[in-house]
Amino acid sequence: MPKAPAVPTIKISPRAATRLKAGHVWVYRSDIVSAERVAPGALVSVSDHRGKNLGTAFYSTSSQIAIRMISHEPVPDLPALLRQRIAEAIAYREQVARDTDGYRVIFSEADFLPGLIVDRYNDILSLQILTQAMDANLPRETVISELSQRLCPAAVVERVDPRVRELETLPPRPSGLLQGAKGSTIFTMNGVQFHYDALEGQKTGAFLDQRENYAAAAQYAHGETLDVFCYQGGFALHLAPKCSEVTGVDSSRPALEVADQNATLNAKLLNGKEIEWIEANAFDLLKDYSASNRRYDTIVLDPPAFAKTKRDLDAALRGYKELNLRALKMLRPGGILVTCSCSYHVSQVHFLEMLASAALDAHRTLRLVEVRGQAKDHPILLNIPETAYLKCVVASVN
Ligand code: SAH
Repeated sequence: MPKAPAVPTIKISPRAATRLKAGHVWVYRSDIVSAERVAPGALVSVSDHRGKNLGTAFYSTSSQIAIRMISHEPVPDLPALLRQRIAEAIAYREQVARDTDGYRVIFSEADFLPGLIVDRYNDILSLQILTQAMDANLPRETVISELSQRLCPAAVVERVDPRVRELETLPPRPSGLLQGAKGSTIFTMNGVQFHYDALEGQKTGAFLDQRENYAAAAQYAHGETLDVFCYQGGFALHLAPKCSEVTGVDSSRPALEVADQNATLNAKLLNGKEIEWIEANAFDLLKDYSASNRRYDTIVLDPPAFAKTKRDLDAALRGYKELNLRALKMLRPGGILVTCSCSYHVSQVHFLEMLASAALDAHRTLRLVEVRGQAKDHPILLNIPETAYLKCVVASVN
């Protein structure tokens, strides 16, 4: 075995050590007790305050999460470790990703590859790099070459979030092709086709985490249907074959344009049915529609994350309650509510309590049909609670 190159050792507080021993992988900057200067993105050895080694981690000089563990052992050969983790991530998706060529191949900490997200859209891989360590040349090149060898994509694109680079004090970098020449494709989830354009438009890709929830919701949807926060039509397109009329609402015109193109792409599945797309603020629209006594048989609510931090929790719950209350009032007896939250800080318990309170205020009886989470290709590690973020409740309303 090659001798491990010397890496700096960082001592952490007893509290942080306990957290790592309980299976978490983060250490906050305030829990670092040694004063050694470490380079941005360096590989470091982590020890408790007594000097007992706890494993190897990536270091960030700017994030509040200063340390992200990558192994309980020394790491003599980082590329080999990255390749092994990638192989494991791909093998897991082969077990759990069904009826789709659009799925998350690598989900950062949940695949023990902190700072790396990779989504597959048919023959295009879309990569996001979130930390100093993953942005370095060696990890980048290793990741791209390993993914290319194993998945043989027509192209690899990088999606850059300028805010993340700023927070990690990384130099700006454009989004774009890293390999190959193909920037757009069509991918399929549950037999429904979607456009994916990596280089134009919003560059946000799809919400692959809802894939299994689309199929679940389609089992119960019926009648007149409203998909609120519809983005590029994920729920609307899946539900349409089961419903008499479908309306999708979103505040983003570019998203609705893609939604409309997606409807055209699925003309056969829709069998002549047209989906109406409305550009509007969902809060205003729901207020107007409920004031004018509009009624629906199925309503989907899938808003953006209202609680970005713990501090936003109360305001977020008020936002969710307002939306859910209005939707509940508009549902006909026997109607179906599909309601989601992608805020990690709003726990499943919070979310169900909010829903119970909305049902009381709306004078409706709500039966839980399914309480769901994120698709299985977005793994949840029980010892890293932050990996579980999506709630999707399907309820029957009387
Ligand atoms: N349901 C979608 C994902 C929704 S993401 C899917 O399955 O693909 C959240 C969406 O909410 C985004 O498309 C965003 O444009 C939209 N949005 C954000 N604020 C909004 C508002 N106030 N009114 C309407 N849409 C809004």
